[in-house]
Amino acid sequence: MRRSETGSMIIVMLPVSEIVAKPEFAAALGIVSKLRERGCEAWLAGGCVRDLLLGREPLDYDVATSARPDVVLDLFPRTFSVGAHFGVVLVATGSENKEEDFALTEVATFRSDGVYSDGRHPDEVQYTNRAAEDVLRRDFTINGLLLDPEKLVGTDCDADSLRNAVVDHVGGLADLERKIIRAIGEPSRRFEEDHLRMLRAVRFAARFGFEIDAATMNSIRAQAAKINNVSRERIRDELTRMLTEGKARRAFELLDSSGLLAVVLPEVARLKGVEQPPQYHPEGDVWTHTLLLLDQLESCAPMTLAWGALLHDVGKPPTFRIAERIRFDGHVDVGVAIGAEICRRFRFSNDETHLILSLIENHMRFADAERMKSSTLKRFFRLESFEEHLALHRMDCLAGSGNLDHWNFVREQYAALPPEVVRPKPLLTGRELIALGYKPGALFKEILHAVEEAQLEGSITSESEAVEFVHTHYPQQIESGNYE
Ligand code: ATP
Ligand code: MG
Repeated sequence: MRRSETGSMIIVMLPVSEIVAKPEFAAALGIVSKLRERGCEAWLAGGCVRDLLLGREPLDYDVATSARPDVVLDLFPRTFSVGAHFGVVLVATGSENKEEDFALTEVATFRSDGVYSDGRHPDEVQYTNRAAEDVLRRDFTINGLLLDPEKLVGTDCDADSLRNAVVDHVGGLADLERKIIRAIGEPSRRFEEDHLRMLRAVRFAARFGFEIDAATMNSIRAQAAKINNVSRERIRDELTRMLTEGKARRAFELLDSSGLLAVVLPEVARLKGVEQPPQYHPEGDVWTHTLLLLDQLESCAPMTLAWGALLHDVGKPPTFRIAERIRFDGHVDVGVAIGAEICRRFRFSNDETHLILSLIENHMRFADAERMKSSTLKRFFRLESFEEHLALHRMDCLAGSGNLDHWNFVREQYAALPPEVVRPKPLLTGRELIALGYKPGALFKEILHAVEEAQLEGSITSESEAVEFVHTHYPQQIESGNYE
């Protein structure tokens, strides 16, 4: 797997023989060998082992070792002590100038975690010399496997060679085969220790298409309310990953069935059972509709689009009413207000918030596009990241009536209008207005807007026509001087 520019995952399925031929694997192998030469125990551990067994390229490689951090720091020339508190050292290998062979590998000392009192982090960790103890602190059985990379060298990396290289203290191999997410040890204790693991269970189950084991799921249901003790940023990041890994629908179904949704996003949980007019929404209630949008989110979808899709109809439950048909008058404005509260709660950046709210605010405007004045349509196209607005509207249609007429119209117009037509150079600026005898003030802005409007409509096309336009429409302001 790789991170895309937006930070989400690009899943790369490759034969394992090709994955292990890459510099990242070579770097991890070299680190394991060097630690072993020094007399320490060392393994590949965690997500990278799981991914190799699934034939997915690991996002990064983690090495678990009996060596203490000071030994690791001493043994490798280029290191960063990233999580000294937890015995984690980042080891750089290869040349920084040659991106192809530069790699960063996380090397973590075997440890067992002490008591957790904040619901997220252990108060202290104890180093141990036993790998079998280290895996017990990990979250799920499929994340608790160890692999000896030296054993893969010279093999064709088929299923048997991989199995042969794996050491499994937790039953992870069987769970990988049966496609099960199961907590290591006693599930309720593991979720009590670190509440974030509840969201991780959902994320892994969705990503891999696995089921969550019954006892593990029951413990999540019993403790779901505690998830709000975890920092909002961490919750947000987990949700964003769920939304942008290509399996958003399944993730949100699991969030719902585990009881987590009602705690982290009650506004979204409220979409359930909110009926819609069948002539526009044959698919069913607002929740079903939203799931059908999530189903269309591809892996690596921009996170703002993903959140926009999730939240576009959050204004519907509070505005539901039955008149001549079911109506949701004002749901866009209410939705923007609810979306603003969610973005604030999850500490989205200003830019992210702006775009997510704009997606909610504008999602109903496509229906009016054919009737828009040329200037209005151009201003519509000026919305930041207009492609995301287009993408949201398309998903919205396909999740409902299936009619793409408005989308097709807007897409064609958008493609046909070059940027210099959508946002042409102004025919007049403030400086020229001053030269014409107007004084800066409130009306000044209105005049410039009117000039731009006429320009976008195509009724004036040159500076001289613009001057004439101003003289015709705003003559008295010069004479009376009361233009401010
Ligand atoms: P991803 O592909 O999403 O990175 P990953 O399994 O590599 O998945 P990381 O968050 O990178 O997940 O963590 C690496 C390993 O550390 C996990 O496989 C797991 O063994 C362990 N781990 C991570 N977070 C936790 C946690 N909250 N509780 C217990 N173990 C954890
Ligand atoms: Mg990882």
